Order: sequence, then structure tokens, then C-alpha cells
Amino acid sequence: MITFQGVEKYYGAYKALDGIDETIAKGEVVVVCGPSGSGKSTLIRTVNRLEPISRGTITVDGQDVNAPNVNVNALRSRIGFVFQSFNLFPHLSVLENVAVAPTMVLRLPHARARERALALLDGVGLANKADAFPPQLSGGQQQRVAIARALAMQPPVMLFDEPTSALDPEMVGEVLSVMKQLAADGMTMVCVTHEMGFAREVADRILFMDAGAILEQSTPDAFFTEPRHPRAQKFVADIRHA
Ligand code: ADP
Repeated sequence: MITFQGVEKYYGAYKALDGIDETIAKGEVVVVCGPSGSGKSTLIRTVNRLEPISRGTITVDGQDVNAPNVNVNALRSRIGFVFQSFNLFPHLSVLENVAVAPTMVLRLPHARARERALALLDGVGLANKADAFPPQLSGGQQQRVAIARALAMQPPVMLFDEPTSALDPEMVGEVLSVMKQLAADGMTMVCVTHEMGFAREVADRILFMDAGAILEQSTPDAFFTEPRHPRAQKFVADIRHA
């Protein structure tokens, strides 16, 4: 579903991604972890071209995302992206936030888009908030709306960039449980997260990054019990002592 071949990314002279070669299969749930500044966010932002790359190739569902003829808006509409900050439209109701892209981009009839939005809100446990406005919701609720909004475009892939990092601790669980359900439903997911409990329970594979490179990739069990790379060993030991 997603491939990286020889991907490099520079910010000026700084090499933020260094020789990324990776394949993420359809239905796979991958958690990207590693120390702060290791390039995790940069990596997933390259997938929908929020960050241009300096070298290499990235494909999503067979499409070269950096090909000159790619329509960036069409590309992004096929890749669900959930950010740390929820970025909902504050002046639109929760229902309209979820319905707006299918109406504007897919040209879905408004009644149909609202119907689909309501079903998605039901899926994230917020059908009863359909007519509320984002500022009236808690952070955890807003992030669940953001997930429903991303799903409204029926993307084959969902990317999550630290989706729970801005939340108060008591709201982390409700967002992770929506993500868990999505994984169980077979969605292809790449998640940058510090939630190692989620990684252990839900991920098919862990990618460990440091200094712009993927230093280790393994199952959660192998990663947490016997990390091989010395920097992965240090990372896991630090989590244990945190
Ligand atoms: P992570 O998500 O693992 O914390 P990032 O991908 O955000 O790491 O950042 C990787 C490195 O690239 C860091 O050293 C960061 O300072 C640098 N970086 C990120 N974004 C930019 C930018 N827009 N301009 C310059 N440097 C950046």
C-alpha cells in the first residue's frame, strides 16, 4: 500500500531522512517510534506530500506521490491524516465538519454526505454531538471528530501524527480505542505515537527511527522484549524507567 525507496529528505543542509526503504502492506498497522527529532513526523508527512523529498520514490496504492502530474489535492483526499492539533473548522457543526469534504471534493449530494457523516460520528461514539460546534467539545471528542472527518473520504490509508499528544491524559484512551477499532476493521495505518501500550497491543510492526533512519523494524513483542540495535535498546530501557 505504501512504499519508500531510497528516500532522503534535507531541510537545508540537515539530513532529516536518510535512506528510507520500507514497504507497508494493505491492512497493516505500523507504529513509528523513536526519540524526539528522529524524523518520525517528517517521514509520515512525506507520504501525502506535506513534505517534499530530496531523493527517492514514495508510492501510495501504486501511485508515485511526487510525480509531476499528480494532483496534490486529489492525492491528499485519498490519504487520511490525523494531526496532533485537531484543526476542525470552529464555525461549522461537528456534522458539517465531517460532511464538508465529501460534499466539496467528491461532489456527494449533501443529504448523502450528512448521512455518511452521521454514521461515521456514530462509529466514533459522537452521534449525539452532531449539532454541536468544535469549541464546545473536549479535546478527545474533537480528535474523534477529526478521525471521522478523515474517514469520510474513505481513504485506503490513515496516517496519525501523535494524535494523542495534545490531549489531557484522561482523554487519551477514548482516541486510542477509536484507532484500535479502525485497526480491527482492517484499515492500513501508520501511527507516530508515544503510546507504547497501543503499539504493543495493536501494531503489526514497529519501525524504530533515529537520526532520520529506520534502525530497526520488528514485531512489538520482539521490539519491546529484545531490541537489537543499541539505540533501540536504550529507547526501550528509557521507556521502562520512565
Ligand atoms: P520527530 O517527529 O521524530 O520528533 P521531526 O520529523 O519532527 O522528528 O524532525 C526531524 C528533524 O528535522 C529534527 O531535527 C527537526 O528539528 C528537523 N526539522 C523538522 N521540520 C523542520 C523544518 N520545517 N525546517 C528545518 N528543520 C526541520
